[in-house]
Amino acid sequence: MGRKMGKKVRVSQFIQKLGEMAQAMPDNRAGHHNQRYELQDAVRGAFSVFCMQSESFLAHQRALLQQKGRSNLESVFQMESVPSDTHIRNLLDGVHVGHFEAAYDWLWQRLLATDKVAPFRLMGRRLLVGVDGIQYFSSAKIHCEQCSRQETDGGVRYSHRVLTALVVHPEQSEVLPLAPEFLLPQDGTDKQDSELAAAKRWLLRHGSWLREQSAVILGDDLFSHQPFCEVVLAAELAFILVCKPSSHETLYSWVSAIERGGKVPEVNRRVWNGRHGEIWRYRYLNELPLRAGDDGLCVNWCELTITHEKSGEQLYHNSFVTNLPLNNQTVQDVTHAGRARWKHENEGHNVLTTRGYHIKHNFGHGQIHLSTVLFSLNLLAFFLHTVLQLVDTHYQQIRAALGARRTFFEDIRSLMRWQVFASWEALIQFMADGLGLAPAPD
Ligand SMILES: [Zn+2]
Repeated sequence: MGRKMGKKVRVSQFIQKLGEMAQAMPDNRAGHHNQRYELQDAVRGAFSVFCMQSESFLAHQRALLQQKGRSNLESVFQMESVPSDTHIRNLLDGVHVGHFEAAYDWLWQRLLATDKVAPFRLMGRRLLVGVDGIQYFSSAKIHCEQCSRQETDGGVRYSHRVLTALVVHPEQSEVLPLAPEFLLPQDGTDKQDSELAAAKRWLLRHGSWLREQSAVILGDDLFSHQPFCEVVLAAELAFILVCKPSSHETLYSWVSAIERGGKVPEVNRRVWNGRHGEIWRYRYLNELPLRAGDDGLCVNWCELTITHEKSGEQLYHNSFVTNLPLNNQTVQDVTHAGRARWKHENEGHNVLTTRGYHIKHNFGHGQIHLSTVLFSLNLLAFFLHTVLQLVDTHYQQIRAALGARRTFFEDIRSLMRWQVFASWEALIQFMADGLGLAPAPD
């Protein structure tokens, strides 16, 4: 196997890339020739906060800069000068979040050049891509042009929602983000944006990449509606979407009718979970109408019910619609893929919310774009650390040696508080040496 030195994911190269992206962003305030350098520093400075999982990281490094005349902001995070927090926020407020998509693309290109995406593939070489919405900001006071507004008894409530898209796999603990789609007030109308509308925009923008990866779109019951399925099919992609009886009466009336005729194919499997036996019952039907009317889209339906072998207690049940053809074998693959959606919540939104990234914390709101830009930089920090966990042997070993995720971040913050490292790689090497780790393979 050839060595892929140039393709190895280096944090220093990613920081470099962030700066180059900032250089290319449109200069909103003509006449300020320093603006591009300032914006580059603002992007790197804000990213450093998320990368280090610490709101006070900039303040500590400024103190270090005063004492020693240098800090990790200039070395590790490659900043030319260190703007104030207010200045960073003001600069980022003027940048559309779409300009950061190139950073996701960069990480994906590097990741796809390794063999680390292969374990995420299933059903041939497909990738499962879950879409799901999350509200990351809500306030009665703070608001910006991009806030959604809702009239409540207590007055107006301002909020931000975003549709995240994550590559998931039933047996992989990591999840891999694609650039998200923000729900924003739509031009010239009072109409609130919706997750479905955001998901359609997202699909149209990422269609070609998703096709290259033979993506299967996963989503909850909200997405198993004909207009969305049609957009997925028009993009030549596949879908596996949760389909509840309460929101799909027509489809389930067909299931009931065929059930009464005793013609619903069924597969039963016994699974030992380590403590007791489980009975996994799969049922499926091909070519049912997703909705009433002559133009109802033809979809395939399946369900998985898991019961306790002895007590008969139901342990799990879910049902899905898909465009993938179902038979006794594929029904198992499809339901297992559909089930992987819980990773989106567990390994995606929960980690982002509670385990260090604090995506629901208000890091600054701004007047126009700041709220969305900071969210996206935080998600990029999550993506970068995930990629490192997959591809960087020393990073993996250090994380494993330190146990809790929190300890790792506490340690890198402590080290950077006392010492200036030449680069991220120098910091990781310092820790690897301290642990007596063997040199990394490449
Ligand atoms: Zn806002």
